[in-house]
Amino acid sequence: MKSLKLVVLYSIKSYKGPDHTFPGVEQWRIEGETGGENKGKNMKAVVKIKKGKGFVEYKEMPRPQITEDEVLIGVKAVSVCGSDIHIYHDEHPNWPPMIMGHELSGVIAEVGSRVKNRKTGDRVVTETRTKSCGICLYCETGKPHICPDKRPLGIGVDGAMAKYVAVPGKLIHRLPETIGFVEASLCEPLAVCVHGLIERTGINAGDTVLISGPGPIGLICLQLAKAAGAYVLVAGTSRSADLKLKRAMELGADEIIDAGKENVVERVKKASGGYGADVVVEASGAPLAIKTAFESLRRQGKLCAMGITGKPAAEMPWDTAIFKAAQVTFCFSSSWSGWETGIKMLERKQINLAKLVTHELPLEKWKEGFEAMEAGKAIKVVLIP
Ligand SMILES: [Zn+2]
Ligand SMILES: [Zn+2]
Repeated sequence: MKSLKLVVLYSIKSYKGPDHTFPGVEQWRIEGETGGENKGKNMKAVVKIKKGKGFVEYKEMPRPQITEDEVLIGVKAVSVCGSDIHIYHDEHPNWPPMIMGHELSGVIAEVGSRVKNRKTGDRVVTETRTKSCGICLYCETGKPHICPDKRPLGIGVDGAMAKYVAVPGKLIHRLPETIGFVEASLCEPLAVCVHGLIERTGINAGDTVLISGPGPIGLICLQLAKAAGAYVLVAGTSRSADLKLKRAMELGADEIIDAGKENVVERVKKASGGYGADVVVEASGAPLAIKTAFESLRRQGKLCAMGITGKPAAEMPWDTAIFKAAQVTFCFSSSWSGWETGIKMLERKQINLAKLVTHELPLEKWKEGFEAMEAGKAIKVVLIP
């Protein structure tokens, strides 16, 4: 047995395919499509073709060519984000024409000459902060994800709703073998939640936490709050009761609240000795839920704002926030450390992302996936190119 292993290792090391990749890489490639030799070939992709409501098409696009600082990722799974739906309706910044999709997992197919510590065949996930300038206040203080020049993957540059995507090598995070590609495609929202809730808002053992909105962000924050030692209530609309609130219970929520039938503020007060929540995560973006979020907060409580309203101006109970001396943290995007912490927790099985995936569809059924998300029939839709 020992000598056989040696032979296999030797053959991998000595293998020089047409594009100098390892043989293991070939299994996920489509017939006849290998690294360098097919440059310029086309691939099918989900593309936002111009500004405005709609204008998303499934069409032929040239296969991306990498620069010397980039890697080419063969996309194994790409998850549909709430912001993809907002981009579809032009309610979120976007720079078309571009291939959509920023939540992905895959395998490196090609490596640029100046990319260090990466090789073809590596299982990876990637940050989305392309085009950060590297020389502004934010970049120089370790926050390139909020650089004004940033053009995120699938939003400002071509993304991953396709067979291949080109990504700067420095944005890649290695994906442990034990994490499957489908659940790994949810690493981006996981990193956003770690950054927003754990790193920026802060949560303590024993805290009473209200999660407002049991979508993917809410259900990930629920698990992070549980891992941090909090008591967690999750509130959602009656529409979400059957699927999402039920899933919240399965993922460890201490209490669930159907906001269509029950008084959320009273339930939170009851669970917190009459004070209100130490931390509220507002992950719905719904006007009534935003109001309830502030009302549920205790004095000097912390509100972690994650839900997009899709409107130019949202109503906020300003005076309630003042007289509670509320600490409000608005959150978007993710830090390098948020990614590393998230992947570690996923590997240690402290977080379950697979349980959020309700639909796995081939890429050409993207529209079905978008519609299921919008209708509230899906939690996470993962597309397979
Ligand atoms: Zn996302
Ligand atoms: Zn910058």
